[in-house]
Amino acid sequence: MKKTILSGNEAIARGAFEAGVKVASAYPGTPSTEILENVANYPGIDAAWAPNEKVALEVGIGACFGGARALVTMKHVGLNVAADPLFTLSYIGVRGGLVLVVADDPEMHSSQDEQDSRNYAKFAKVPMLEPGDSEEARAFTRLAYEISEKFDTPVLVRTTTRISHGKSIVFPAEPVQGLPEPNLVRDPAKFVMLPANARRRHPLVEKRMLDLAQWSCEQPFNRIEEGKGEVGVITAGISYQYAKEILPDAHILKLGMVHPLPKDLIRSFAARCSTLYVIEELDPFLEEQIQAMGIRVIGKELFPICGELTPGRVQASLEGRETVLSQSTEASLPNRPPNMCPGCSHRGVFYELKRLGAFVTGDIGCYTLAALPPLSAMDSCVCMGAGISNATGLSKVLPPEQRQKVVGVMGDSTFLHTGINSLMDMVYAQAQATVVILDNRTTGMTGRQDNPGTGHSLTGAAAPAVDIETICRALGVRDIQVIDPYDLELTRQTLKDAMARPEPSVVIARRTCMLERRGAAERKLPLFVDADKCVSCKACLKLGCPAIEWNAEAGDKGKAVVNQLLCVGCGVCQQLCKFDALGVHNEK
Ligand code: SF4
Ligand code: SF4
Repeated sequence: MKKTILSGNEAIARGAFEAGVKVASAYPGTPSTEILENVANYPGIDAAWAPNEKVALEVGIGACFGGARALVTMKHVGLNVAADPLFTLSYIGVRGGLVLVVADDPEMHSSQDEQDSRNYAKFAKVPMLEPGDSEEARAFTRLAYEISEKFDTPVLVRTTTRISHGKSIVFPAEPVQGLPEPNLVRDPAKFVMLPANARRRHPLVEKRMLDLAQWSCEQPFNRIEEGKGEVGVITAGISYQYAKEILPDAHILKLGMVHPLPKDLIRSFAARCSTLYVIEELDPFLEEQIQAMGIRVIGKELFPICGELTPGRVQASLEGRETVLSQSTEASLPNRPPNMCPGCSHRGVFYELKRLGAFVTGDIGCYTLAALPPLSAMDSCVCMGAGISNATGLSKVLPPEQRQKVVGVMGDSTFLHTGINSLMDMVYAQAQATVVILDNRTTGMTGRQDNPGTGHSLTGAAAPAVDIETICRALGVRDIQVIDPYDLELTRQTLKDAMARPEPSVVIARRTCMLERRGAAERKLPLFVDADKCVSCKACLKLGCPAIEWNAEAGDKGKAVVNQLLCVGCGVCQQLCKFDALGVHNEK
């Protein structure tokens, strides 16, 4: 077939199609999101968003129990959510092959922490492949199904942001033919992990890893590239590209399978090198295991443990220079702090929460940006679902007058991800805390994906929509208010009343995301500032809407100006101007 250029995520989708995957499930998360969006374009695959990563994996496991090949994708923090079924699946093994792609985010371009998912492969005792470019992303994904079925194991494929989003040449192949049709097979000794069955499976898991380590010594995905001299590098993934660029003469052992390690191959490679570097991002995962084999390598004593590697950072490390974490540029660029969009419905809620002096336990979403000035209205943010449960914990320990200040905030998608359990616990604990569900009818933070509340599937087809109010009621919440967050007075009064109640209460702030992909958001004429009326009080700037600019040259103290290209006419700023200076053009 004709070669093409694909991103790593597109190539993984292609590899899954070629492997004959029948079911694909995921929760979106940067940098993994586009895998499922691309899988959905291939025929014969049931691809769907799941409400969270644990559910996604459990759906994949079900398909695999039926004898079909299944793909599950997520970002690194999602693997924490899916860890429970993963560990037991390691013991159970598979029927149809199961591949879990986990995308790490070194440097935290879009994440709350920097995790090295290779540790999960070791911890869960499952093999992990790590591609070093898009072609390997395609080929390794396809190969992973063969490994899965040959060794009766789920297989992890790990990418990092540079592999997921970088593009390189791919050589697509014809899909496999002749895979068995899914059917029901009863095998409780394998599928039911009662302790008696699990005890029998554990030795098989240990043997599987030894077999895999031996087998992988002979496989081309672990390859030695001959160099000159006596310097060697052991590396994998994107770090391989940096090693090739900075040490072009070194012998390279490029690992395609990063767990288990091909120990015999590593020993024979190490024997020929007088200086041996391990170049890897994040944790000393390879380094520690190779050191434990009694082989002296140079790794994290030289190369940084935090952040991404780059060719420059590898070079600086080798030269003993300090590596800086963030890239600096000589160009003088305007400062553009991350900000919620013009007309974002979350803005008014956080503006009012700030005014009410709420202690906001936040969550993961676009709205986490409310922690930044000028809103500065978020006091904690841990992980998905924690916005509500953190509020419960706080209200358990605070004196009554402070308890009333606690407000847990999360989005609709996050509520359906793990927030439901947290709210159930809040009601059960009878915590005096308020929950605000910012229902913008989409999964905004990862790029407007659908979720069980939006009424659409991944492919855009109509789907039953979850009723969030009914869920809250079923969980035992007695006070549920639905508000339009563009109405600041209503928002303030509703939040105030909810915070005063001596029981859990829920405020659902519902307004469609401005970027909603079907254009369901309401856009009106942009506002303008009547310079004659503007008294330069800057009250409107407190909202932090990117459409409101300050013309320092106007008048003595400057005047507010609305950027006509950005403003969507939501009218929220209008409610803040006591001097009636903000209006629409046709009112002038
Ligand atoms: S709130 Fe009104 S008066 Fe104050 S700066 Fe903004 S537009 Fe001008
Ligand atoms: S109406 Fe005001 S708050 Fe809304 S988008 Fe325009 S400038 Fe921003």
